[in-house]
Amino acid sequence: MMPFDYFDPRTLDEAVALLHAADGQASLLAGGTDLLVQMREHVRRPARVIDLKKIPGMDDFVYDAKDGLLLGALVTTRQVETSPVTLRHYAGLAKAATDFASIQVRHRATVAGNVCRASPSADTLPPLIADGAVLRIRGSAGERRCAVQDFCTGPGRTTLAPDEIVTHIEIPPPPPRTGKAYIKHGRRAQMELATVGAAVRLTLAGDGRVADLAIVLAAVAPTPLRAVQAEAELRGWAPTPQRLAEAAQAASDESRPIGDVRGSADYRREMVRVLTRRALEQALQQATQGACEDTGAHA
Ligand SMILES: Cc1cc2nc3c(=O)[nH]c(=O)nc-3n(C[C@H](O)[C@H](O)[C@H](O)COP(=O)(O)OP(=O)(O)OC[C@H]3O[C@@H](n4cnc5c(N)ncnc54)[C@H](O)[C@@H]3O)c2cc1C
Repeated sequence: MMPFDYFDPRTLDEAVALLHAADGQASLLAGGTDLLVQMREHVRRPARVIDLKKIPGMDDFVYDAKDGLLLGALVTTRQVETSPVTLRHYAGLAKAATDFASIQVRHRATVAGNVCRASPSADTLPPLIADGAVLRIRGSAGERRCAVQDFCTGPGRTTLAPDEIVTHIEIPPPPPRTGKAYIKHGRRAQMELATVGAAVRLTLAGDGRVADLAIVLAAVAPTPLRAVQAEAELRGWAPTPQRLAEAAQAASDESRPIGDVRGSADYRREMVRVLTRRALEQALQQATQGACEDTGAHA
């Protein structure tokens, strides 16, 4: 690993000033499960490493039935995996965190770090996009908000300026009669990146038709892919088995996978069809049971 200067600022303003002064030569450190690996492999050689752990508010984990969930940048995948709030209201995100890496990695890896890494196979991105999550970002020019859907611009690339920090992730509360699912397929169950991932959020209208839905795919395009044509197959329609199958096929048709060591492009397209259909079925079942609804009985 190349030598670097280490900073542990006590305020957000101090962290932003340190980033700004480094002129693109600094890296933020959260859990370090991506950054430290990249530094050891000389993929990244930051002159400064700026640790976020001593900044107040970065570990916020707040749920409110009206505003939804607020996750500070230091919230780990393990916290999301085990929280009664996420298990009940954000089942897709909780499942993505459960299927993530190993328990040791999950205790360190943050959700915000996973988002900022912007890997096409990142597990938390599809459910966050399906949930309509928004990032709060602070930089020397002030604060801005960015939908997670618009954040990734390519593999490892985001809209973040060199002096910007993601401080929080805001996730809206689920409407009544909503179900959520995330299904990851890899070559093995643990310690594996997704060959394909599929997240679904589905809301039923009072008459049983699909009022709204989102289908978001991992590892089949340079950035997480919102399967808009598949969504159009279902929105406003009764979710019959045939409609679900047609939507799953549409998702497969609009996916843009490459072939690599984890699977060929054809195999990934077929897995998109299979996983999307299963995720739709799971989300539909939850929506029918009102599983994500707020009864006031949460931690
Ligand atoms: C063995 C192993 C298995 C893994 N398995 C999986 C897996 O199954 N699924 C999966 O999706 N990923 C997996 N990963 C990848 C990794 O764990 C995640 O991407 C992790 O969530 C990154 O979070 P972190 O807190 O460790 O981030 P760090 O490594 O600290 O940072 C990651 C990147 O984001 C930047 N960053 C971090 N926080 C912020 C912030 N608040 N604002 C702006 N930039 C920030 C950093 O500068 C860095 O560029 C695995 C990694 C390892 C080592």
